[in-house]
Amino acid sequence: MRPPRLAPLFATVRALKGVGPRIEGLLNTLVAPRHQGAHARVTDLLWHLPVDLIDRAVVPSISEAKTGELATLEVTVAEHRPGGARRGGRSAPYRILVEDDTSALELVYFKADPSYLKRLLPVGAKRLISGRIEAYDGLMQMPHPDHVTAVEGGSALPLIEPVYPLTAGLSNTTVRKAIDGALHQLPDLPEWIDAAFLAKRGWPPFAEAITRLHAPRAEADLLPSAPARARLAYDELFANQLALAIIRQRLRKRAGRKLAAPGTLRAAIVAALPFALTSAQARALAEIDADLASPHRMLRLLQGDVGSGKTIVALLAMANAVEAGTQAAFMAPTELLARQHLATISGFAKAAKLRVALLTGRERGREREQILAALKDGAIDILIGTHALFQETIQFRDLGLVVIDEQHRFGVHQRLALQAKGTGMGAELLVMTATPIPRTLLLTSYGDMDVSRLDEKPPGRKPIVTRTVPLERFDEVVDGIDRAVAAGAQVYWVCPLVAESEVLDVAATEERFAALRAKFGDRVGLVHGRLAGKEKDAVMARFASGDLSILVSTTVIEVGVDVPNATIMIIEHAERFGLAQLHQLRGRVGRGAAESSCILLYRQPLGETARERLNVMRSTEDGFVIAEEDLRLRGGGEVLGTRQSGLPAFRIATLPEHQDLFEVARDEARLRLTRDADLTGKDADALRLLLYLFERDDAVRLIRAG
Ligand code: ADP
Ligand code: MG
Repeated sequence: MRPPRLAPLFATVRALKGVGPRIEGLLNTLVAPRHQGAHARVTDLLWHLPVDLIDRAVVPSISEAKTGELATLEVTVAEHRPGGARRGGRSAPYRILVEDDTSALELVYFKADPSYLKRLLPVGAKRLISGRIEAYDGLMQMPHPDHVTAVEGGSALPLIEPVYPLTAGLSNTTVRKAIDGALHQLPDLPEWIDAAFLAKRGWPPFAEAITRLHAPRAEADLLPSAPARARLAYDELFANQLALAIIRQRLRKRAGRKLAAPGTLRAAIVAALPFALTSAQARALAEIDADLASPHRMLRLLQGDVGSGKTIVALLAMANAVEAGTQAAFMAPTELLARQHLATISGFAKAAKLRVALLTGRERGREREQILAALKDGAIDILIGTHALFQETIQFRDLGLVVIDEQHRFGVHQRLALQAKGTGMGAELLVMTATPIPRTLLLTSYGDMDVSRLDEKPPGRKPIVTRTVPLERFDEVVDGIDRAVAAGAQVYWVCPLVAESEVLDVAATEERFAALRAKFGDRVGLVHGRLAGKEKDAVMARFASGDLSILVSTTVIEVGVDVPNATIMIIEHAERFGLAQLHQLRGRVGRGAAESSCILLYRQPLGETARERLNVMRSTEDGFVIAEEDLRLRGGGEVLGTRQSGLPAFRIATLPEHQDLFEVARDEARLRLTRDADLTGKDADALRLLLYLFERDDAVRLIRAG
C-alpha cells in the first residue's frame, strides 16, 4: 500500500483546480505514461520538464517593440472597438486600442466576452500586457495577450516563464497552471539522501528541487547539470538501483536449489551437434553450471550478439536442469520465435530424448488441455512458449529453470512474476539478450543480475559488407537484387518506420511489396505485425524453404529469425532507425556460409547524427562497440530508455550528463541495504517513500513478503 502521504500525487490530474474534463483529456495525451493506461496523474505533471524559457522583461516602449517578437509593455487603455456582426454571420474581432507616449497598439480578441474585457481593460486604466506582436494592415497588434495585469500588481506577471512541450489545444499557460497546482500537492517528505553527500554536492532538498525545476531563472537552470535537475536525476537513479538491489537481495536470500547433474543428457546433445562449442559458449555454460549447482538462486543475464549461439547454451543448461529432475521453461518474445525455437531445440534435444512442447496463445481447446496435463504430470521436460507461459492456469510438476530469450521485451515485473511460478523454492533464471547493452545501462535494467557475455562468434562467419546508398539510386539497387535473386540469393527487405502508427507502417510496406511484386512476381512475400499468426508463419515458412526470394517486412523480423540462406539485407530509410535496431536487423544475414551484404538506403540530406550512425554501421559489426556508440550519439539529453531499446524509461536522468550518478546510486543502494537489510532502520521510512514516489512498488512489496 502506497503511503497516504503520497496519495495526492497519484490522484488523476482532474483533482487539480482548473482541470476539467477537456483539459484532463489533453493532459492525458501530453503526460500520461503508456504503462499507466490513459490517465495522467499529478505526479506525471511534476515530471513534465520545461524545455525552454520566455523572458518577459519589460520593453521600454511600443515604438521599440518588434513584430514577431514577444513584448511586455506598460500601456494605457484608450478605446474599445467592439467587433459587431460582419457579413456572412461571422463576427469581427473585438479590438482594444492601447497607447503609451511613443505609439499605439491594438489588442485583438477573436473570441471575447465584452463585459469581461471591459472589466479587465477599462478605458483610462494603466496595464502591463505581454504577448506576441504582429503587424496587420500596417498597424501593430497583439492578438490574445498572454498576460494582462494592473501595473501596481506587476509582480503577478511572471517575468521569466518556463516553456513546456505541448499538445494541440493546450496552451503553455494552462500547462503551467496545472503544474503549479501539482506543486502545491507536494507533501513534506523526509530526506533520503545521505546528509553529507547532499551537502558535498550542494543539492537542494527534494521539494525545493522540484519547485526550482519548474521555475528556471536562466538557461543554465534547464541544463541536466543544474543542481535541482542533478538531484532529481539522482533520486530517480537511486530509486531504480535500490529497487534492483532489493530484488537481488530477496531473490538470492531465498534458498535456491542445487540443480547439479552428471551431464549425461548434455553429453548426448553435444555429441550429436554438427559443431564444437566456442570457448565463449563453454565459459558461459561453466558460469551457469556453477550457479545451478550452488544453493543460491541463479539470476544470470546471457548477453550475446545475434548469431553468437545463445540458443544452444540455453538448451544445454536446460538439459542439466532436466537431468537434475526438474522441468525447464523457455520463453520467447513472439509466437514466431517460439515456433522457431521449438524447431531448433527439438532437433538438438532428440539426441537426449528430451520431451519438448510448445505453448502459445494459439494452442487452444483439447490440445491445450493435453499440454497442461502433461506439464503437470512431468511428461514434458521443456516447455517453449510466449508469455502465455505466465498465466495462472499453467502448472508445472516442478519448474527448475526458466530461460527468457530476448529479454529487452520483458521487464522486471515479468521477471518477478515468472520467478513466483517456480513450485517450491522458485526457479533458477537465465535471461538472454541479443541487444548488447552498454555498461551503464546494464546497471539500470539488470543491476540485480550476474552477467555472462558471448563475445565470440562461431567460426566460419564471413564479414557482412555494408554499404550506404541514397534513395535516388533505388533503381540500381533493384537491378542488383534482380541479378542476385537470379543467382539464387534470398533477400530481406525492411520498410521504414513511418510514424508511431503501425497502420501507416503497414501501408508503406504494402506499397513497397506491390512495387517489388510487379517486378519479381510471386517470389516476393510480405509479413507485418498485423497479419494473423498463421499467415505470418506461412509466409516465413515459404521464405525459409526458399520458395520466396524476397521477404518484405516491417521490423517484425527484427528479433531472432534464422534463415541461413538469406544473404542480402535491404533497409529502407535506414536513417530513421536507431543503431541498435540496425544492428539487429543486419544480424539476420551473415548466418550461412555465403558472403552477405547489407544495404542501408537513406534519404538525403542526412543530419549529422544520422550520418555518424550510418558510418558506425559501415565500420564495425561488433555489437558491443555499436551499443556504446549508440549511447554516445543519442546522448546530449536524450531521455534514457526509449521504446526502441525497451530499457526502463527515466524521466529525468540522462546520459552522458548524469553518467557519474549511476554508479554512485548503485553503490549507495547496496550500502544502505547492507546496513539495513529489511528496511526497518531509521532511514527506512524515507527510502520507502522514495521507492513509491518513483513507482518501484514491486520492490517494496518484496520487502513485505520477506
Ligand atoms: P543467437 O540466438 O545467439 O542469435 P543462435 O543460437 O540462433 O544465435 O545461433 C546462430 C546459429 O549458429 C545457429 O544456426 C546455431 O546452430 C549456430 N551455432 C551455434 N553455436 C555454434 C558453434 N559453436 N559453432 C558453429 N555454429 C554454431
Ligand atoms: Mg536467438
